[in-house]
Amino acid sequence: MGIRTGQQFIAGLRDDREVWYNGQRVADVTAFPEFRASIESLAKLYDMQHEAEHLDVLVVESGEIGEPIGRAYEIPRTLEQLCLKREAYATWAKSNCGMLGRSPDFLNVMMASLAAKRSFFAEGSAERADALSNYYRYLAKNDLFMTHALLDPQLDKGKLRHEQSDPGICLRAVDKNADGIVLDGIKRIATAAPYADELLVWPFPPTFQPGEEDYANVFAIPMNTPGLKTICRPSFAHHGAARDFPLSSRFDEIDATVVFDNVLVPWDRVFIYKDIPLLNRMYRDTRMRELTAHQTNARLEVKLGFIYALVHRMAEAQGIATKPNVMEMLGEAAMRVEVLRSTTRSAEAQASVDPENGVIYPDLFALQAGRAFGPIFYPELIKMVRQMGGGALVQVPVSMDEFDSPIGEDIEKALRGASIDGRRKTQLLKLAWDICGSEFGARHELYEMNYAGDRSALLAGVEREYGRKQDWLDHLDGFLEGL
Ligand SMILES: Cc1cc2nc3c(=O)[nH]c(=O)nc-3n(C[C@H](O)[C@H](O)[C@H](O)COP(=O)(O)OP(=O)(O)OC[C@H]3O[C@@H](n4cnc5c(N)ncnc54)[C@H](O)[C@@H]3O)c2cc1C
Repeated sequence: MGIRTGQQFIAGLRDDREVWYNGQRVADVTAFPEFRASIESLAKLYDMQHEAEHLDVLVVESGEIGEPIGRAYEIPRTLEQLCLKREAYATWAKSNCGMLGRSPDFLNVMMASLAAKRSFFAEGSAERADALSNYYRYLAKNDLFMTHALLDPQLDKGKLRHEQSDPGICLRAVDKNADGIVLDGIKRIATAAPYADELLVWPFPPTFQPGEEDYANVFAIPMNTPGLKTICRPSFAHHGAARDFPLSSRFDEIDATVVFDNVLVPWDRVFIYKDIPLLNRMYRDTRMRELTAHQTNARLEVKLGFIYALVHRMAEAQGIATKPNVMEMLGEAAMRVEVLRSTTRSAEAQASVDPENGVIYPDLFALQAGRAFGPIFYPELIKMVRQMGGGALVQVPVSMDEFDSPIGEDIEKALRGASIDGRRKTQLLKLAWDICGSEFGARHELYEMNYAGDRSALLAGVEREYGRKQDWLDHLDGFLEGL
C-alpha cells in the first residue's frame, strides 16, 4: 500500500474488530464519538507524510525495503539517518504538542529495532527470525499503526503467573497446532488499541522464572483477530469544545485492556515461543531501548517545551515575566527542556555502530538520563502551571462562547491581563487547566511517570549496566591511592 494518507488509515479501521466501551460493543470505531478526535489527530500524522514541507523528513526511500517508508521504520546505518529520525519524531510531536505518547513512530521504531537484531531471534530458531523480518517488512510497506501490551494484570505480586489463584488470567499459550499457537488470558495496557491496526505482545518485565514457560511468548496480530476483545477506559475527550478543552478535545489516547479468548496466532506472527531465557534478554539484547528512548525523549522535549512556553505566556499575561522569582521559575523550566534536548543530541554524538549488524545506536546512558528524569521533570512543570495560574485557573467561564453573550463584557473585565485582553487570557487559562487540572491532565502525569516502566526498576537497571561505572570507580580509586 505504501505511505498512507489519513483517510486510508481511517478506512483500514472499519474491520469488524471487537471493541467494548461502557459495556457496549462499538459497531464502527471510526464513527464512535469518544474516539473520533484522537483518530483525526492520528490521521493528520499520516497526511503530514504527504505534505511537501515535511516529506523529506517524514518519508525515506528505503534500501532495506525497496520503496518509500515512514522515517521511524528506517533502520539507521549512518549518523545522518539517526539525526533525521529524531527530526521526524519532533515534527510529528509538534503537531500534537507532544501529547500523543503513542503516536505511530513509537512502535514503528520499536519494530525496526527488533528487525535490526534478526540474529537475536535466530537464537530461538531461523523460522522465528524469518517471521520477525517478514512481519517488519509487511508493517513498513503498509505503513501500519501498532499498539502493544506488555503487562499482566496486577494480581498477587508475591506469586509467579502459574501460582496465581487462577493461572489462566495472565496471557499464556494453551495449545499449538500446524497453523500456529493458541493464546488465552489478559494483557494490559494497550494505549490506542481501539484504533490501532496491529497489536504487539512481548511480556515485561524480563524477570520470568522456570515454570512460567507458557507465558513467555512474543507475537503480533491484527486488531480484528477473532477472539480478541479490547476493553476501554472512560474517555476524557470533550466533544466539539476545542477552545474550552484545547488538548483533551483532540489528543485523548484511549488506554485499554486486551482479552484473548483462545486466539490463534499463526506461526508467521510468532517471534518467541515459550522461551524464558530468550525473552528475559529481549529488552536489553535487541537494543530496542536505545532506538525507542531516542523517540520518547524527542517527544518529551517537545511536550516540556510546550509547557515551558505556556508558563511563560501566563507570566506575561500578569505582567510578572521579568520579576526575579518568576524568571527563576522560568529558568528552571527552560533547563528541564534543555536536559531532555541534550539527551538525544548527546546520545547521537556518542552513537556507535554495532559491528554485528552495522546499525548505528545512540548512547544508551545519555538516553536513560531522559527516561529517569522525565517522570520528575514533568510533574514539576505541571506544578509551575498551577503556581502561575493561581486562582484564575478556576475563574474561567464555562465556555469561550460566553464572551459573545450578554455577560461578555463582565467576563472580559474580570479576566483581563497586563497586555492581553480577557478573551486571550482566558484561552491561555483554559489550555493551562486542560493540562494541569483535567482528567486528561491527570492521565498525562500518570503516563509520564509510567510509560517507560516503573522508574525504580529503570534506575536499578542503569546501576547494573552503567557502562561508564568502571571509569569513575578507577578515577576514585586512583585518588584514594594517592592520599
Ligand atoms: C497512561 C498509561 C499508558 C500506558 N500505555 C501502555 C502501553 O501502550 N502499552 C503497555 O504495554 N503498557 C502501557 N502502560 C503500562 C506501563 O508500562 C506500566 O504502568 C508501568 O510499567 C508500571 O507498571 P504497573 O502499572 O504494573 O505498576 P506496578 O509495577 O504494579 O507498580 C505499582 C506499584 O507497585 C510497586 N511494585 C511493583 N512491583 C513491586 C514489588 N515486587 N515489590 C515492591 N513494590 C512493587 C511499584 O514500585 C509501584 O509503586 C501505560 C501506563 C499508563 C499509566
